[in-house]
Amino acid sequence: MKHLGKTDADKLDELVQLARRLGATDAAIISTADIVIEDALADLCREPRCPNYGLSAGCPPHVAGPAGFRQLLRRFDRALTFKIDVPTAILFGEERSEVFKLVHEITADLERTAVRLGYSHSRGFAGGSCKMIFCRAQGDCSELTGRDKCRHPGSARPSMSGFGINVSRLTAAAGWNLNVASQHAQPDKDKVATVCALLLLG
Ligand code: SF4
Repeated sequence: MKHLGKTDADKLDELVQLARRLGATDAAIISTADIVIEDALADLCREPRCPNYGLSAGCPPHVAGPAGFRQLLRRFDRALTFKIDVPTAILFGEERSEVFKLVHEITADLERTAVRLGYSHSRGFAGGSCKMIFCRAQGDCSELTGRDKCRHPGSARPSMSGFGINVSRLTAAAGWNLNVASQHAQPDKDKVATVCALLLLG
């Protein structure tokens, strides 16, 4: 049990350092009191409809949504958030899927490490639909059909969008500026946009 003897501060620092090593631009520990949930943000998955709406077990209407997330939050005091600043030319180009794949993989890796460190109820939430990222070539989500379990349990995590997590407030809690870019803007190698994820620690 390598984590025995480590202080809480040591373990939280280990998680922040791991996020950076895995590819995050930055990571921070925040209070769950600073996580803001808005029903209206989750509603945007349905209207205007995201092309991935309803296609995976990690997206609405198959997740617990804002109400479920508010209940879940009561069990946690702290969270880790990480961000990746991505040039818009990449985020809105052919490598978009690779960026979100990395977000899911880092989140899942951090969740496993947090559990190993003793935060055994930790739960990770990524960005982007796992159907688009991991199961694009498959006709369906195996978990939704009930025929099988998730094909990528070691990587895929639910998307924050479906829970109404306010990313702007999340980044503010971490002390970062949120770089936002529209998908309709001209891709620009010098302009960056921020993608984020969240790990509830407990
Ligand atoms: S099987 Fe694919 S689409 Fe379904 S939850 Fe897993 S990764 Fe997502």
